[in-house]
Amino acid sequence: MDSMEVEDLGVLSPKEFNQLYAILKFFSEPIRYPPDAKMQDNISYEIFINICYHLPPKDLLMLACVCKHFKNMLDGSILPISWDIWKTSRERFTPFKDMDPPKGLNEMEFSRLLNFESGCEFCKRNDKRIHIYWVACVRSCKECLHKRAKRKIFKLLHLNSRY
Ligand SMILES: [Zn+2]
Repeated sequence: MDSMEVEDLGVLSPKEFNQLYAILKFFSEPIRYPPDAKMQDNISYEIFINICYHLPPKDLLMLACVCKHFKNMLDGSILPISWDIWKTSRERFTPFKDMDPPKGLNEMEFSRLLNFESGCEFCKRNDKRIHIYWVACVRSCKECLHKRAKRKIFKLLHLNSRY
């Protein structure tokens, strides 16, 4: 990239123009799922799905953060087979085999909730004892839960005292 100085951007050579055109075209085309052709890195859709079926939930969660393509591929509302990938992964790699996602959570959100390795959802610490509080669907340490509960109760009392 050293050869491309800022002042070089003023006039584009035909080659640069074609590259820029290809990039803009790529980003302006709607993405369909599953894609017809190969995805970036030359991984076919089928291979991607196959790989995903062998990954634990924490790796799927990381994969969904890699890029928009992977995120969409793992989003069951875009590609319904993804719900099965998340479910299979949970059943194979976690002790929560026989549980369905709690009401209001989809398979991916459920996997995120069960991801104990990322610690408390609020303070992000994983050196404390972490619990899942099923009623609230949160993964939290006791301190954060107490802080949040106090704040909620205070808000409720404050709201009630105005009427
Ligand atoms: Zn916490």
